[in-house]
Amino acid sequence: MIDYKTLFREKLQTLKAEHRYRTFANLERLVGEAPYALWHKGPEEIKKVIVWCSNDYLGMSHHPEVVGAFLEAAQKYGAGSGGTRNISGTHSNHVDLEKTVAHLHQKEAGLVFGSGYAANEASLSALGEGLSDCVILSDEKIHASMIQGIRHSRCEKYVFKHNDVEDLEKKLASLDINRPKIIAFVSVYSMDGDIAPIHKIAALSKKYNAFTYLDEVHAMGIYGDKGQGVAGSLGLSDQIDIIQGNFAKAYGVVGGYITGPYEIVDYVRSYASGFIFTTSLPPAVAAAAEKSIEVLREDSSCREKLWENVSYLKAKLQETSLPVIGSESHIVPVVVGDAHLCRLITKELLETHGIYVQPINYPTVPRGQERLRLTITPAHTFKMVDDLVAALEQEWGKLSLAKVA
Ligand code: PLP
Repeated sequence: MIDYKTLFREKLQTLKAEHRYRTFANLERLVGEAPYALWHKGPEEIKKVIVWCSNDYLGMSHHPEVVGAFLEAAQKYGAGSGGTRNISGTHSNHVDLEKTVAHLHQKEAGLVFGSGYAANEASLSALGEGLSDCVILSDEKIHASMIQGIRHSRCEKYVFKHNDVEDLEKKLASLDINRPKIIAFVSVYSMDGDIAPIHKIAALSKKYNAFTYLDEVHAMGIYGDKGQGVAGSLGLSDQIDIIQGNFAKAYGVVGGYITGPYEIVDYVRSYASGFIFTTSLPPAVAAAAEKSIEVLREDSSCREKLWENVSYLKAKLQETSLPVIGSESHIVPVVVGDAHLCRLITKELLETHGIYVQPINYPTVPRGQERLRLTITPAHTFKMVDDLVAALEQEWGKLSLAKVA
């Protein structure tokens, strides 16, 4: 007899031996208390901690208008959508949200999915499958959801060096100009915090007859005077074929989308398994996402506060010898370089200092690049930054972690 439980237990033991076994901090993020959260350390023990790794970058998940839109729509339309989009699950909230995202990216059409992951996986697999003899060229640091989509497309694949337009051009030049090609990349890379050379990649796509697919998940709501993302803020939306985003990071809700030319979005709507065969977002979620986009389109104050805080955090870290990856974005990575030590320092930060930062290990980053990925929000104070930096320095010293010279 096959002992299935043992086989899977062995898989878990491998993760534990490599210090990559994931443990989740059980938190209560109470409205009005951010960036504090209550950490349920054990059944009887609750501790107040400061969250330093949230992707709710602007605190919109607690914004009164967003929560209000959610509650109002839930009261009116209920908790669920009632089905897939095809079978009674298309609600006016979805249709409105699709128009809103299309408008935000200055595209003809939008399509909403259950998550950003689903949007990438479903769209890339369908796009690749739909183009006969297609080749997909992707940046080496794209998100797992894009990798899965590309895999499922069964297209021939090329991976270009991260943000390296020369390497991309070399690969494009090696391919028949008349062969369909998709270039898949990300605007703000979530683990390094660097930003893609969108204009150069767009120019190459024109030169080599390629189609472009850009993930703006970590940029939406934050970049541009209306939160329209990096491509939009640079006036490059029309240079990219499909722009993908989500509602789960700076918009503080959940769900994903693509925007692009009407026929291409309609093709994905009509062919993508990951869109067709799944229940649509609850209307209340769509209403909350729509409200969040509206708030961030009209009011820049929390974006401004975010950037002020990001600058302060980066400046404070620069005064230390901690190995911070210099980034142009709001994401601030500090490299530990070892999975065990990365877990150890996050444990100490949480238990001794009440600072919650999740360790980032392989496969999210390459082995030897394990890190803390710090994210600050408008709700953090300068005093919290000072305390964080002091705690990092103290724990770095205790564990004798590598510093910069
Ligand atoms: N794309 C990127 C670059 C991401 O970092 C993530 C999630 O972290 C996703 C897509 C998936 O988005 P979602 O969390 O909405 O599924």
